Amino acid sequence: MSNTFICPRCGNKDQLFVGYKNGQPYCRRCIGFQGEEAQDAVKPLQSVRLSLSYSLSREQRALSDQVIANFKSGIDTLVYAVCGSGKTEISYGVIAYAMSKGLNVGFALPRRDVVVELFQRLKSAFPNNKIVAVYGGHASVLEGDCIILTTHQLYRYPAYFDLLVMDEIDAFPFKGSLVLGSFYERSLRGHCVMMTATPSKSVIARFKRPGHQILTLRTRYHRKPIPVPCSHLAVGPLKFFFCVRKLKEYKKARKQCMVFVPTVSMAERLFGFLRLFVSNGNFVSSKRKGRPGIIEAFKNGKYDYLVTTAVLERGVTIRNLQVIVFGSDNRIYDSAALIQIAGRAGRKADAPTGDVFFLANKESEGMKRAIKEIEYCNTFL
Ligand SMILES: [Zn+2]
Repeated sequence: MSNTFICPRCGNKDQLFVGYKNGQPYCRRCIGFQGEEAQDAVKPLQSVRLSLSYSLSREQRALSDQVIANFKSGIDTLVYAVCGSGKTEISYGVIAYAMSKGLNVGFALPRRDVVVELFQRLKSAFPNNKIVAVYGGHASVLEGDCIILTTHQLYRYPAYFDLLVMDEIDAFPFKGSLVLGSFYERSLRGHCVMMTATPSKSVIARFKRPGHQILTLRTRYHRKPIPVPCSHLAVGPLKFFFCVRKLKEYKKARKQCMVFVPTVSMAERLFGFLRLFVSNGNFVSSKRKGRPGIIEAFKNGKYDYLVTTAVLERGVTIRNLQVIVFGSDNRIYDSAALIQIAGRAGRKADAPTGDVFFLANKESEGMKRAIKEIEYCNTFL
């Protein structure tokens, strides 16, 4: 009986974690990870269509191009992006490129609920491709053009991924887990793109080595915490009156406010009501005529408040802006969208704070997660 058993699945060499059954060694470190492994078949070149309902910011576009260039020249990339800066979208370009070449593409995240959420986003971003989600209890289909999976499921993909994107690498349970770390090492045969808002020292050190690059995305130059949203629960008309009360308060304090609504018809309806009580507002949506002019006028301070759909979720910076998300428990608002919206507040160095209210019937998973994630990011400033 040899005493130098090395686990073929997780690479464990520590004999303390090696057990023997009928004289055969087995690894205790990864014994909880058992199941079918993915079949590695040669895939043809693919046609890929990337469909986004918004466009990337200039910074996002530049980073996305650099990530693609790195991948082509065999460089591993760490994207160090502040919370709410839209780092996930930065990976879409390289995912599209790798899928088009018929390469094996994976996107791994530590938490199952985030896998489910990202799966939906990627499915709508890549309508022509087979996007597959793999997590505990959901692993009957293991192969596709792009596999979104929990880090726990990486064991099913030994030496498999040509491109592996990983997000939240500094989050539990991936962080500090030897066994998950080695599943990652063993599943990657090509190059990785790692993303984090909160890189640890060891991750930074790793990406300072040759063949690696660190890219940073800071839409918040001032390093002040992102305002933490506050959930306000109210049913029916009470939501309307909450808006009226807040808008009056902000008007008095000479602060502008954006009220986000989930649908185009809601924008019209809510504004029709609010204008009866609070003067000097307007509304925009994708269907609103003269939208650029209204937005420009709002930026110039001509309106006190603006009711808007997601058309203004990104890329608008207004000094001292207050934010209300009306109906934030609507299913169109996942945590990523809510973080983006919350990020509209407090963007200027001389006015880094602001109210963000999630106004809803009940607190949704997305709301809870958005608040948690912003709090988590803020602890690292
Ligand atoms: Zn093992």
